[in-house]
Amino acid sequence: MMDPLKPDTLLATLGRDPDSNAGLVNPAVQRGSTVLYPTLDALQNVRREYGRVYYGRHGTPTTIALQDALTALDGAAGTIIVGSGAAAISTAMIGFLSQGDHVLIGDCVYEPSRKFTERVLKRFGVTATYYDPAIGAGIAALITPRTRVILVEAPGSQTFEMMDVPAIAAAARARGVVTIMDNTWATSLYCKPLALGVDISVQSATKYIGGHSDILLGAIACNAATLETVRAAFGDFGHHAAPDDCWLALRGLRTMSVRLERHHATGLKLAAYFAGRPEVKRVLHPAMAGDPGHALWKRDFTGASGLFGVVLQPTTRAGLAAFVDGLQLFGMGYSWGGYESLCLPANPAHARTAVPWTENGQLLRIHAGLEDPRDLIADLDAAFARRAAAEAAAPAP
Ligand SMILES: *Cc1c(COP(=O)(O)O)cnc(C)c1O
Repeated sequence: MMDPLKPDTLLATLGRDPDSNAGLVNPAVQRGSTVLYPTLDALQNVRREYGRVYYGRHGTPTTIALQDALTALDGAAGTIIVGSGAAAISTAMIGFLSQGDHVLIGDCVYEPSRKFTERVLKRFGVTATYYDPAIGAGIAALITPRTRVILVEAPGSQTFEMMDVPAIAAAARARGVVTIMDNTWATSLYCKPLALGVDISVQSATKYIGGHSDILLGAIACNAATLETVRAAFGDFGHHAAPDDCWLALRGLRTMSVRLERHHATGLKLAAYFAGRPEVKRVLHPAMAGDPGHALWKRDFTGASGLFGVVLQPTTRAGLAAFVDGLQLFGMGYSWGGYESLCLPANPAHARTAVPWTENGQLLRIHAGLEDPRDLIADLDAAFARRAAAEAAAPAP
């Protein structure tokens, strides 16, 4: 008997079966809506089950290949693929909620998760309490008899606050509450939410799984207790994931480990560079020694991705514009996880209620891409020089 395969080997082998595809290494893109049944018996006895092909909306063999790969990586009972990470979060939550129920939402979660809670769930009579990301086992005090779902995200993708995921998951399980973790930052390579006691791990596959800034997809990896509920919600809302995008996600998986190693290393190099700049107040990166979340990151994660935060010393708007407008290698835009570097001014203050964001310096969200870090640092050196010139020309009043 061989030992269980290591993650890098899994990435090279999962979700493909050359024998069933003319010997070709990769599976085919199989598009389709209608599935034909040759006989009345076949039509009436079709098994409309997870992992089977019976109508295109529920997946073709290409979708199932991606599901199987992600299920193995996450140690899940099954994975539901939807058209975006945002759909993955709302679909994972909604199946467990009824009028009068209560949800607990980390104060640092992805902002559209918060908007879904405020705009949709509240309208249907579901109440929400936002909790301090540092709450840990203290979450038990916020669980009411109507609490059904706890949403965790670590680190938060704007403020990079860590959470004690096992402590929150244990408190939830003791009370029969479903925990859902947004694991987009670490991916299923660097954090295994289900092994930490979480019921459902959600990822925006748009980010590192796709890895090339050219698809949108979401993945919901469920344990055995939650899979059928999530699968029903997926069907009831009419979700679908395009086979072409599933195929690109499978292709992305093959190189995800080597890409992430570089994102991790370059991210830490850039974080150290920023930490050494006098114009920087604080770097937010849980894999950096000294970060408030470092001990939790070390305990629960095996690596870091390329996304982190930088709080600048206060500057003028012209100083900020001079910094970002002339960047040659860092693009300014939403999303992340592709091969290219990004620098995005962000303001978490308006999306906080439990623990206000009180930093007065501008937050920059940095995505370390796969470029040579020496070129990236030269680009940032020039940006700081432009900022200094702009501040000297028009000092703050
Ligand atoms: C991008 C993102 C999502 C949503 O993903 P989409 O595929 O863009 O819908 C969810 N969570 C986090 C943390 C993200 O960064």
